[in-house]
Amino acid sequence: MAEQSKTKTKTKTMETVHSPLLTYFSMISLLTLCPPFVILLWYTMTHADGSILQAFSYLKHHGLQGFISIWPKPSATACKIIAVYAAFEAALQLLLPGKSVQGPISPAGNRPLYKANGVAAYLVTLLTYLALWWFGIFNPTIVYDHLGEIYSALIFGSFVFCIFLYIKGHLAPSSTDSGSSGNIIIDFYWGMELYPRIGEHFDIKVFTNCRFGMMSWAVLALTYCIKQYEENGKVADSMLVNTTLMLVYVTKFFWWEAGYWNTMDIAHDRAGFYICWGCLVWVPSVYTSPGMYLVNHPVTLGTQLALFILVAGILCIYINYDCDRQRQEFRRTNGKCLVWGRAPSKIEATYTTSTGETKRSLLLTSGWWGLARHFHYVPEILSAFFWTVPALFHHFLPYFYVIFLTILLFDRAKRDDDRCRSKYGKYWKLYCDKVPYRIIPGVY
Ligand code: NDP
Repeated sequence: MAEQSKTKTKTKTMETVHSPLLTYFSMISLLTLCPPFVILLWYTMTHADGSILQAFSYLKHHGLQGFISIWPKPSATACKIIAVYAAFEAALQLLLPGKSVQGPISPAGNRPLYKANGVAAYLVTLLTYLALWWFGIFNPTIVYDHLGEIYSALIFGSFVFCIFLYIKGHLAPSSTDSGSSGNIIIDFYWGMELYPRIGEHFDIKVFTNCRFGMMSWAVLALTYCIKQYEENGKVADSMLVNTTLMLVYVTKFFWWEAGYWNTMDIAHDRAGFYICWGCLVWVPSVYTSPGMYLVNHPVTLGTQLALFILVAGILCIYINYDCDRQRQEFRRTNGKCLVWGRAPSKIEATYTTSTGETKRSLLLTSGWWGLARHFHYVPEILSAFFWTVPALFHHFLPYFYVIFLTILLFDRAKRDDDRCRSKYGKYWKLYCDKVPYRIIPGVY
């Protein structure tokens, strides 16, 4: 890592800003409930018509034994699919050319360097996948047919991977942005290292969050679409709208990937179970679940409704992108840019890093960032709603992701506010006075 001190001195305090109760509650619920939930979600979508009542009735009659019997074993085929995909993505991350991009200054005052080759990796992945299908070399329906086994293998494999991260954090941290809370569960759950790497160049969080997690979202969206096509000989307009919106969203993500390296996931959340297991298992299963549901529910929307949903979804994805772009452009140009055609209004803040250095930062108080302090979460939630609504309202389960995302982002907004308050002190208070709403202007 360029400009990064290699001394192995550990910072003793984690910058975790959760209340202890919330920390323990979320830790226990995620560690114990998420793995069975992923399997239940897959089972309900693929074997119980997407109906929670049907799945519940099965569990009521068959009890724990019934649940164990529906939990697929991580088969050799599933492990092979995951291993080939992971190796392919790791190779693309390492080998494809890309501009060198600096990440934000870390709490310990380091500045990591990244290789921005996300768009190339995304295009190569999707084109390769489609070519394998088109030329009859590998049929994506195999992925759908082994989905339960794949999730099962991911659940266990990612858990082992998080143990590796924990051990690495203790024995061989990549930078000074690493530390122990003194509690083994917290260290495992929230992670120890901010920027773990293998060697100089292979950034583990870029791999888990972007190249494995987000990439799998696009790959699975295509898989669901292809599965419906192979089953029915055509793709319903509902599936087309869902797949297109999810692909537009993931394309936007990779287009803006270097910007993502400035966000909380990368710049503040350490590499532990919460973020890494989440990206390796939760993203490919829960995030893609509206498409998983549609495979067996080819709803016909009609051209007008389908187009309306598509346009509304694309608009929300664009606004979400523009919020992120506006903040990053503002920071990149040191406030010397136009925001909605005018000079931006801003607060010049200072803060102290964990090594005692005083740094300067700018807070934008106009544009999207003047509407509410986390307005960007509104279009994010609405986008998810629009790629789910093609499923119409026959079942609740396709909407699980939208509801989960709403809870996640409301909690995240609070977490971020708390963190920024402790980072910027009086300057954050000034921002809150000027922009009083947290997410929804005039409401919250
Ligand atoms: P960001 O990290 O992009 O933004 C919050 C950070 O920006 C703060 O921590 C602070 O960091 C800085 N900041 C806050 N206010 C201002 C301001 N007024 N001016 C300039 N900088 C400011 O947020 P997220 O990581 O939460 O979101 C990034 C994107 O990811 C969004 O599009 C979001 O919707 C999406 N997302 C999607 C999720 C999903 O599961 N689908 C989950 C989470 C996010 P600093 O310390 O640098 O000042």
